[in-house]
Amino acid sequence: MTKHVRRLALPLSALLLSIPIRADGPLPVDTRAAVGALAARGASPTRAVEWVRRLTDEVGARPSGSPGDRAAIAWGQALLRELGFVRVRAEEVPVSVWERGVETAEVVAPFRQPLVVTALGGSVGTPAEGIAASVVRMESLEALEEAVKADPDVVRGRIVFFARRTMKAGQGPGYGANVPMRTTGAAKAGPHGAVAVLVRSVGTSRSRFAHTGSTRYEAGGPRIPAAAVSNADADLLERLLARGPVTVRLVLGCRPLPDGTSANVLGEVRGRERPDEVVVLGAHLDSWDLGTGAVDDGAGCAIAIEAARLIAEAPRRPRRTIRVVLFANEESGGAGGRAYAERHAAELPKHAAAFEADSGTGTPLGFSWNAAGTLEPALAAVAELLRPLGAEGLRKGGYGGVDVAPMAPAGVPLFGLRQDSSTYFDVHHTADDTFDKIEPASLDRSAAAMAAMAYALADLPRIHARPAEPATEGR
Ligand SMILES: [Zn+2]
Repeated sequence: MTKHVRRLALPLSALLLSIPIRADGPLPVDTRAAVGALAARGASPTRAVEWVRRLTDEVGARPSGSPGDRAAIAWGQALLRELGFVRVRAEEVPVSVWERGVETAEVVAPFRQPLVVTALGGSVGTPAEGIAASVVRMESLEALEEAVKADPDVVRGRIVFFARRTMKAGQGPGYGANVPMRTTGAAKAGPHGAVAVLVRSVGTSRSRFAHTGSTRYEAGGPRIPAAAVSNADADLLERLLARGPVTVRLVLGCRPLPDGTSANVLGEVRGRERPDEVVVLGAHLDSWDLGTGAVDDGAGCAIAIEAARLIAEAPRRPRRTIRVVLFANEESGGAGGRAYAERHAAELPKHAAAFEADSGTGTPLGFSWNAAGTLEPALAAVAELLRPLGAEGLRKGGYGGVDVAPMAPAGVPLFGLRQDSSTYFDVHHTADDTFDKIEPASLDRSAAAMAAMAYALADLPRIHARPAEPATEGR
């Protein structure tokens, strides 16, 4: 009899234990209340716009390893301290450094026409008098490959013009499809004897701004100058090339400088129960030099900082620590993200999530997520609470963002803030990336959405890591 009762008691207690979980659904009741309250903060002004205004007005452009970059690192630490975050620090990151100089180009035949160009980051310069050569049009990298197969001398002594236009999402080859022309066009054309490369701006602007961005050479390969040409002037080149031969003179004074030092800036809101476990809220602090880095990525820095500040203001801290990380060197090498993953390798199994905001100032749509499938019910429950913000869209997969991706091999759950980016590539990497483009209400919603999702992950009973993937190079 006793034995029988004991046997009954086990399933009964298991049943009783399961009741609170059923009552809570996939989110504990307290967690759900805090997440809902944070989501509601997005309906009215937050301080997010203040952070991007201060970064762009007080620091401005901050290319890796530059005086502006150093100012931004000091700015970031001062702000995180001002907001009461703890363990505020700068973790040094070795970076390559590059300096822009004079940059002019003109069509010299058949008609004289100035062209708006800008050097690609990392490019070598031209001789002071420039390089004048005939232009050969290539639609894409693939077209170059085909053309040199047919005629190995087709680009020899000439300036290669990569012409394919970047279209808005869903309308044709987009940013992702065209970026390789910018990053590897010079490396691919140089070995065939090209003397320089002009790339139609990888951007969707209809303005006369040229869009910069990084380019890379092969180790030991030829290093030929590379510049982006504005969409308006790329159109002119195409019209002239349709009539016959075109000669362009390109003058670039840019140059690589000796390697330097930058830093990731960190600050924390300590968790109430498991402060050694971490949720990272990331964005990149560096920017290109042409604008003031408002949408790329001042907006993301503001979203991450404000999300953490909103969580710090919550009546109850989440179990785990919220760690803001303002990453170095995203634009010209990604050294900040790699350095974080290396320096914190031993701690990565205690990372419950790493978020990145690097999609500009548009309204939030939701999150990409890459974690164990067991997390899905909890995420779906948070997403329901984000519906009033329009941020309920969950997309499984992805790598979170360039800066958090190096944590992937350790199995860290990665989250990317998805935003409306229909106008993002109009100003991206141009002189037009300035504070006036910022949409304050969208930043408020984005900060609240990130705060709510991050709070949930910092407060759930356990970490839903993916199985650690074998370390691979790159991402
Ligand atoms: Zn960016």
